[in-house]
Amino acid sequence: MIELRNLTKRYGDFAALKNVHLTVPRGELYGLLGPNGAGKTTALRVIAGILQPSEGTVIVGGYDVQKEPERAKSRLGYIPDRPFMYEKLTGGEFLQFVAGLYGQNGADVDRRIDELLSVWELTAWRDELLESYSHGMRQKLIISSALIHRPEVIVVDEPLVGLDPKAARLLKDIFRGFVQRGGTILMCTHTLEVAEALCDRIAIIQDGEIRAEGTMDDLRREAQSGEARLEEIFLKLTGGHAVRELLEVLET
Ligand code: ATP
Repeated sequence: MIELRNLTKRYGDFAALKNVHLTVPRGELYGLLGPNGAGKTTALRVIAGILQPSEGTVIVGGYDVQKEPERAKSRLGYIPDRPFMYEKLTGGEFLQFVAGLYGQNGADVDRRIDELLSVWELTAWRDELLESYSHGMRQKLIISSALIHRPEVIVVDEPLVGLDPKAARLLKDIFRGFVQRGGTILMCTHTLEVAEALCDRIAIIQDGEIRAEGTMDDLRREAQSGEARLEEIFLKLTGGHAVRELLEVLET
């Protein structure tokens, strides 16, 4: 479970998140959508304990991230959009290193690493340095590193970028299987078709505030948009007319 209560995050005088309330229960895949600069990555980084909230509380797996950071973090897998990786480690060493950060080692972890490398077809790359990995291979390894300690909660920023169609399908299946078994996922994405197909509920955030939240049907009602697809609803709720104006300018 993830819970944000009255969450505000300021960078200096600028509030990137303003009094955000949001709950993602167990068994739910929740999409956080919004225009560039809306505050999505900031929200994920606060949940992951990388940034401190200016005000409010973040609960992960039942633990307050501020008050019990180790307990909260041990339950969380974070997949950032721009991960830092040690280029001089091999894929196998990188996964061992991350497992070590969670205090895990031994035969169990070795088996888990074998499994994850095999699922992502990276077994042949286990002993190659990360500097030789392609963008998609790095993404597969980062996803593996977030799953290594069997988290209950996953927060993930643009997970499909760089993945080929087969890997993208695999990731979607992994995510759906994860929530079916009682896990919790909060996913940021700009790929609205993926959000529409995959997420149980969606929030649209803009200028650090939640503009709308709910199932696709809830969002359609909120936007008074009949049978519209998520793209139409998103543009309507976030001022998509600006896009049309831009197109008109380009055409003249
Ligand atoms: P995108 O879709 O472009 O990735 P986002 O919704 O993830 O955007 P954030 O990265 O959370 O947006 O940024 C939210 C706001 O906070 C933006 O206005 C951004 O300029 C600002 N911001 C983010 N990080 C910092 C920082 N370290 N210092 C100052 N301002 C920041």
